[in-house]
Parts: sequence; structure tokens; C-alpha cells
Amino acid sequence: MPAGTMMNVPLTLTRVTERCKTELAHVEVVHREPDRSISRTTYGQVIARAEAMARGLSALGIKKGDRVATLMWNHAAHLTAYFGVPLSGAVLHTLNLRLHPDEIAFIANDAGDRLLFVDHVLLPLFEKFRAQVPFEKVFVVGANGKVTGTDVDYEAWLAGAPKEGPLPDLAEEDALGMCYTSGTTGKPKGVVYTHRSTLLHAIVTAMPDSLCLSRADTILPVVPMFHVNAWGLPYAAALVGAKQVHPGPHLDAASILDLIESENVTIAAGVPTIWLGIRDALDAAPEKWKLKPGLRMVVGGAAVPEKLVRDFDRLGLTLIHAWGMTETSPVGLVSRLTPDVAGVDEDTRFKLRAKQGVPVPFVDVRVRNEQGDVPRDEKTSGEVLVRGPWITGSYFGIEAKDRFTDDGYFRTGDVANVDRFGYVQLVDRIADLIKSGGEWIATVQLENALMGHPAVREAAVVGVPHPKWSERPIAAVVKREGAVVSEEELRAHLAPHFAKFWLPDAFVFMDAIPRTSAGKFKKTELREMLRAHYTGT
Ligand code: ADP
Repeated sequence: MPAGTMMNVPLTLTRVTERCKTELAHVEVVHREPDRSISRTTYGQVIARAEAMARGLSALGIKKGDRVATLMWNHAAHLTAYFGVPLSGAVLHTLNLRLHPDEIAFIANDAGDRLLFVDHVLLPLFEKFRAQVPFEKVFVVGANGKVTGTDVDYEAWLAGAPKEGPLPDLAEEDALGMCYTSGTTGKPKGVVYTHRSTLLHAIVTAMPDSLCLSRADTILPVVPMFHVNAWGLPYAAALVGAKQVHPGPHLDAASILDLIESENVTIAAGVPTIWLGIRDALDAAPEKWKLKPGLRMVVGGAAVPEKLVRDFDRLGLTLIHAWGMTETSPVGLVSRLTPDVAGVDEDTRFKLRAKQGVPVPFVDVRVRNEQGDVPRDEKTSGEVLVRGPWITGSYFGIEAKDRFTDDGYFRTGDVANVDRFGYVQLVDRIADLIKSGGEWIATVQLENALMGHPAVREAAVVGVPHPKWSERPIAAVVKREGAVVSEEELRAHLAPHFAKFWLPDAFVFMDAIPRTSAGKFKKTELREMLRAHYTGT
């Protein structure tokens, strides 16, 4: 057999940045400033600054594999760090500004971050944990020269960084970035992405049956750049050459809709709560925003209720549901209608679109229980196991063998079934399943059915201790503004679709359901709030 004759060109970010400097130099990068004004730059300028940043970091003694942290909103300077830090050989560690300051400090120390790049507007947050982390230098972005103490003005530093000169050689297995899991089960753990994993993930995310990204798109990641690299979108957008739009710190529905309208956004991405807010804003003022028909909204991070998919269709917009985790870079499943389902009726189409979807290329997904891989009967459930070039094989500094199967799959902790078309539907996370009288109750379907009621904005179901049944489900419900609904009505709404013992014992109306830093229901906290329902303690 002859050896392959192809050149061995490593899959590193340099492949993307070189093209951004030439073919794509004029393509726009737009963001909203803290004062709400709009700033415009281009890929050409972002990459020129990123390369200066990389040289500046090397001049400071930053070496391959060192961790460099950011504490920033989504904007061009953060995008510059997305390229500049990895181009220096260092690892971009995006700190989650929604965490408790002590937790941010824990994570920065665990990662051993040497430097920090922080937004000027986030200094009050940083001050709450500054004393706990020995950063060697702190660069303040957007300070307009107003820095104090030993802090460095980012713009002044960048202006003084070498404009010319070689950048370190990169190998495709070199680490590029890291994120921490949100620690819903145990302490947060670091996941480290490589150049290769990031590029392959970007290529597959852009494919037509995934998110279908192209040069013709304008991409708005509402999902923060500190959540699994904004789902990899800044890299995928640069790869395909799409214009990027970033919201800065303004994430309210009206600001997002204004930006979508004024910048002609064609695809935006965020967690379900963002889209709930957008739907409510559009329903409240249907004439206010002129949105392009065909605008796509990617939703993930938590299950999307079928009602929301239907509501967006009614508004002439398309929700695309995707599933992933910090450990999976994150895109693993995307729910698009494949030709195999062409003949199904409209209700089934909506049902399929609200599922988590089918695996993207290169990601092997298995759903397995004690009996083995589950049959594709849409009923039998098992744990979702994944394997692929952008699925983590360990955690930063921890092997965590218990998170992997003997045949090399990562255990997601998610429970799902599979239908005859191969669509995976998550029914719960293992930790949130309810065991009542020896039988399992999965909460996600109950929640989605509840959110299908017109009076319900949001609903979360948790198990609380029960003296006889060990656990019973209780639903926390947030009503839509001005809506009136009783417990009996909600029970009657669910009754035709679920076994009797699945029906929540109580429906507790709340103003808001506690959420994690990523905008998911915080079930640990909700369980604590409701745990005394039967036992009184
Ligand atoms: P953590 O695992 O610490 O909550 P992640 O942000 O990595 O942090 O969350 C991954 C989890 O989020 C998945 O295991 C799954 O339970 C949930 N998730 C992500 N996307 C979806 C989705 N589309 N539908 C339902 N759950 C989802």
C-alpha cells in the first residue's frame, strides 16, 4: 500500500486566522458597548490585534500550555482573546462571571491561571475575589486609561505589543482553551479543548444538517463566551467567514431584538430562557421589530418545550434544538428534520423538533441501560453515552474513570430514549429522576407538557421526600403575565398524557424558578425549597 501523499498540515487556529487576514479581512465584527453604543471592527483588525496580543503574551514569558483567564462579556476584545491567547500557545480560560466570587476564585486557582483580562465594568465583581487569586498581571479592557494600582491598561499594552515577529509553532494536539463544568454534581471540573478538537467541532457545527452556517450568515451568540466557548460559534463563524454580532452586557429581550433587526442577524443562539423572553416581547409588541423571515434561533443547554418551537413558527421564526455539554465542546445532537421523516404529520414534526435530535458526524451516541443498547422504541430509556474527537477523555488534573465506560464512552448522566428514526429524546438527568414507590418518574416530559399550557410560562418538577412513597413529584409553576390557572386545571391538562402516579401531588406557583449560572433550572435549590412538603422538616 502506498503512503498517503497529502501534506501534513496541522489543524490549528492558524488555519482560520490566516484566512481571516486575507479573504475575510473586511468581514464585520460588531458589538454593543456597556453604554449601549455599537462598535464595529473587522476580522482583519481582530486578528491583527490577536497576533499582537500573542506576541505581547510571549514577551511576558507566557509559555505553551500556560493558562490565561478572561472575565468578560461577549465583544470584540473577547473575540481577540479567543484567537490571541491560543496563538501564543497558551490556554484561554473563560471565567464564568455569573458564579459566586468564591467559586470563580476556586476555578481560577484550580486552573492555575497566570494572567487575567477583565472588563472594566466587571471590576466590582473582580474586587470580590481579587485577594484570593495570585494573578501575575491583570489587564483591564475598556478602561480608557483609567486603571489603578498594578493593573495594566489593555489598550495601552496592546498598542505597545510587537506588530511583527514570529508566533510560536503550534501542534494540533496543543491545548487551546478550557472551561469548567457548572458543578451541579460535585466541584466544578476543568475540560481542556485542543486546536484539533475545536476546529473539527467548528467544521461539523457549520455543516448543513447541523447549524448550516455560511459566509452569507450574520451570527449572534447570545450564549456567553464563557459558556463552552459560546457553543464554539465564534470559531465556527470565523471558519466560514460569517459576520459576528455580540451583545456585550445587554441581554434583555428588547436589546437582543434591536440588534437582530439592525444588524440583519440570520442566526442567533441561546438557552431557552432567552427565547422565552423574546417570544413574550414579540407577542407583546408584534409590530415593533421587523425580523427577517427564516431567522434561525439555536436553542440548547436545557430542554426546549414543544410549545416554544410552535410559538416561534407562529411568529415566522425557526427554533433549532441542539444538545451538548461542557465535556462535549458542546455540540453532540441537533434536531433537524431529516428526509427519513418527510412523511410524518405536522404534530409529529413539532414533536421531533423538540427532541434533542440526531448525532452530528464524528460523535458516536449510544443510549444504554442494564440490558444493553436500548431498542429504538421511543419508550425504553437508558443513559446517553458519547465518544468522539471533541468529547473529553478526562478532566483537568483528574482521570475520573467512573465517568467513562469500559469501551471508552463518556457517561453524560443524561437519560434518554430513541425513536425509530434515531432521534434521541432526553427524559431527565440521572440526578433529577424521581423514585416513587419503586417506580421511576422522569421530570422533563412533565415540565414540557406543563409548559404547553397557555397559562404557564415555566415549570420545573422535582422529587421531595415522602414518608410512604420515598419521593413524590411537586411542580413549581411560573404563570404567564396576567394568566389565571388553578392546580386542578393543570392536573387535568397532564392527566390524559401520563400514568396517574406521575402526576405531581402539588403545583406551587412562584414568581421565578431558581436558575444556575447557565440559565438552567437549579433543581438542587428547588428541592430544598420544597422538601418539607410532606415531612415538615
Ligand atoms: P452541567 O453539566 O454542569 O450542568 P453543562 O452546561 O455542561 O453543565 O450542561 C450539560 C447538561 O445540560 C446536559 O448534560 C443536559 O442535562 C443539559 N442539556 C444541554 N442541552 C440540553 C438540551 N437541548 N435539552 C435538554 N437538556 C440539555
